[in-house]
Amino acid sequence: MSDTKKSHPLSIPLFTRGNQCHKSLWLHEHRPELSQSLDETLQARFDEGHRVGRFARALFPDGRCVTEEADTTDRQLWLTKKLMSSSVMTLYEPVFMFDSVVIIPNILCRTENGWTFYEVKSHGMFHPGILKDVALQYYVLKGLGIEIDRICVVHINTDYVYEKTLDVLQLFKVVDVTDRVKMRVNQTRDTVLTMQRILKAPVFPTIPIGSHCSKPYDCDFKSFCWKHLSDDSVFSISGLSKNQKFALYEQGVREMKDMPAGYPLSDEQVSQVRAHRDGVPTVNKKGLSDFLGTLQYPLCFLDFEAFQSAIPLFSGMRPYEQIPFQFSLHIQAGPDVEPVHYSFLASELGDPRRSFAESLINLVPENGCIVTYDHHLESQAMRHLAALFPDLSRALLKRVSQVRDLIIPFEKGYLYSPAMRGRYSIKTILPAFVPELSYENLVIKNGEMAALSFCKLRLSSDVKEKTDIRFALEKYCEMDTYAMVRIVEVLRVFSDRD
Ligand code: SF4
Repeated sequence: MSDTKKSHPLSIPLFTRGNQCHKSLWLHEHRPELSQSLDETLQARFDEGHRVGRFARALFPDGRCVTEEADTTDRQLWLTKKLMSSSVMTLYEPVFMFDSVVIIPNILCRTENGWTFYEVKSHGMFHPGILKDVALQYYVLKGLGIEIDRICVVHINTDYVYEKTLDVLQLFKVVDVTDRVKMRVNQTRDTVLTMQRILKAPVFPTIPIGSHCSKPYDCDFKSFCWKHLSDDSVFSISGLSKNQKFALYEQGVREMKDMPAGYPLSDEQVSQVRAHRDGVPTVNKKGLSDFLGTLQYPLCFLDFEAFQSAIPLFSGMRPYEQIPFQFSLHIQAGPDVEPVHYSFLASELGDPRRSFAESLINLVPENGCIVTYDHHLESQAMRHLAALFPDLSRALLKRVSQVRDLIIPFEKGYLYSPAMRGRYSIKTILPAFVPELSYENLVIKNGEMAALSFCKLRLSSDVKEKTDIRFALEKYCEMDTYAMVRIVEVLRVFSDRD
């Protein structure tokens, strides 16, 4: 039962949610237990956004931060008012309320004609989609009678390269959006009224699933709204556009077995649909055998882990550049020979790139093939390192030329199991074909968690925690390359089967 008598002030996160889907807005306020909890990696992205917001304060120094000086909304509203009527020139995170809408602008600077409002985003480019949020903040400030002469969005400049010291003026780009925001006031007022009406309603609005469920964010109520769809639904057909999938769904075609005859599908999609209909894998033996023919021993199964940071940390680094910090390597000298495992995990102190590149060159031989799963990270990182360290460039680019991508036979549909549910990540392929191996029992289960753990390691001073993290990182990365060893065995078995 929902509590519709309770007041539900709108905030920026709620408004953003409501702009994506009114049902999500209602569920969030009245049935939060139906949502999938925020995972650690999503939380880390929010934390990065806050870190960038704090960093951008250096553009407008010597301000007072309301949310750090006061801890309840009442006190924050009171302190904001006091500071606005004092001689303070810059406020960070002041708090305002108007018409049951609470906002916390990032930065407000006093000018000769009033105030300039800066909204800071950790994005690497300006997204017009954020104008709705900015317009809501302007709507509140205007409603309170605060004179706003300029409205700007501050975002990360991805062309910036860190050189010895961090240049904050170069790190950020400032975009003036004053006119674009001011013209949205009436539209924003109407949206606020609509959302407030929805929040007070006793039941959620009837909204069918659609492309809005993952645009601009993956909705945390998908497990509730999408629960009527099975793994065999048309949404599991790979390579079909979202529009095609929703068009089929709206025509009543939910399961792959109900696909209308003559619907245009590629050869890969036809074999995928057949696998789901028959409940057994489909195999293209020639495709598998051609792919296996491209692999020459020794096979070096290689996987990198890397982290990113909006604020560059090392000389020569750009915002959001991938910094490799770990690799796992299984080298198999010949068919049926037990692979030997090697690994590298950087020290949490300092720049890991040089030691990473040197260890890679020392451990990976210049003959044979380097087998990766979805090679983009590995190939790009090696190319970046080659550009960064000219003395290692030849050796690194030689390794790039040895790369073969194990995702190809799956992407091309040479082998498909219904257990893959239209997905090709190694985390899906492994349990589909090697059920005795799983990432489920590992502490670190994916690359994002690995990156996050390494960042935690860099900040930790707890010796036991550091050991636990290093152990978990080694186990996770080792699993990625051992999984590839087993997947090549699986390909050989299916390729040889009569
Ligand atoms: S899953 Fe889709 S329909 Fe359901 S609340 Fe989320 S966005 Fe709305």
